Amino acid sequence: MKIVDHPEPRLEGDTDVLVEMLDVGVCGTDREIARFEYGSPPPGSPYLVIGHESLARVLDVGRAVTRVRPGDLVVTMVRRPCGHPECRACSRDRQDFCFTGDFTERGIKGRHGFMTERVVDDQRFMHVVPGQLREVGVLVEPLTIAEKALIQVWDVQERLPWTAAGVAAGSGHGEKAVVLGAGPVGLLGALALLVRGFETWVYSLEPSDDPKARWVEAVGARFVSAASTTLAQMAEEIGSIDLIYEATGAAGVAFRALDVLGVNGVFVFTGVPGRKGPIELDAGALMRRLVLENQLVFGTVNAGADAFLAAIDDLARFHARWPQQLRALITRRYPPDTAPALLSGASSDIKAVVSFAEAG
Ligand SMILES: [Zn+2]
Repeated sequence: MKIVDHPEPRLEGDTDVLVEMLDVGVCGTDREIARFEYGSPPPGSPYLVIGHESLARVLDVGRAVTRVRPGDLVVTMVRRPCGHPECRACSRDRQDFCFTGDFTERGIKGRHGFMTERVVDDQRFMHVVPGQLREVGVLVEPLTIAEKALIQVWDVQERLPWTAAGVAAGSGHGEKAVVLGAGPVGLLGALALLVRGFETWVYSLEPSDDPKARWVEAVGARFVSAASTTLAQMAEEIGSIDLIYEATGAAGVAFRALDVLGVNGVFVFTGVPGRKGPIELDAGALMRRLVLENQLVFGTVNAGADAFLAAIDDLARFHARWPQQLRALITRRYPPDTAPALLSGASSDIKAVVSFAEAG
């Protein structure tokens, strides 16, 4: 991993947009790529520019661009279609559901990412972020994980007429939700659940006097420490759990949590576990509960345009309701030349952001 002299991108097509990067978030996927465990450079390139969580400002636009203007703040989507005409998902701009696996992802798979001063992309992959979200707009991309999950939760919970009653379509709504894990994806997910009226618990490894636990309590959710409370003890206190939103990537705790999912409950997997040994599972008991309790388990990978738009709307909602806590998720901004150390070292940040703006 090194800082390379990457060629300056320029406008080529009529619908191209040139942006200057402001903030690029760093996540576990970036660290895996930096360890060469994941990701691939573009064909013919000896390196990959990483970075897929971004906030940028538009500098210049092609002559047919209508969606953005110079000066706008934008977040650029990550995944690009596979290009196979037979892929029903990609041919409908839903590459997040790509069938072939030949999709590309900026900063991850086969395309350069955003950890560079300037980026060009087609306007259809960019979404405008309101100016008041300048400080927190880089959280849009990690928030799309929860947004896409909740769009799908709504789709399935429409089967329960009392849950759906009186709630606007497209915004999943239920009673009691548990978030597994207090990383950025989990904490942003907790906010998304809270604004939809879920009573929300966050179950995570940190002790109950950890700053993350205090953050959870400050936004109106409840923190339960896995260090002192078992899943069964938590479930006994909560009652029937309608939704479990997994954001740990740890298969063991996730499957143990399936044991405490309530009647008619939905379990969402969002984490990608590392390669670890097999875990033991009582498949018969699990199958019995799934059937007799109408339970649903699904996995989801971000994200389509609908989830990006929902994330921008929700981020504005979070910003109005919890300005301090939202800003606190970005624990520190780093200059670009510290990125290699940031990617390879241990981190105590909730969300670390590489800031191109501050470097001037
Ligand atoms: Zn496809």
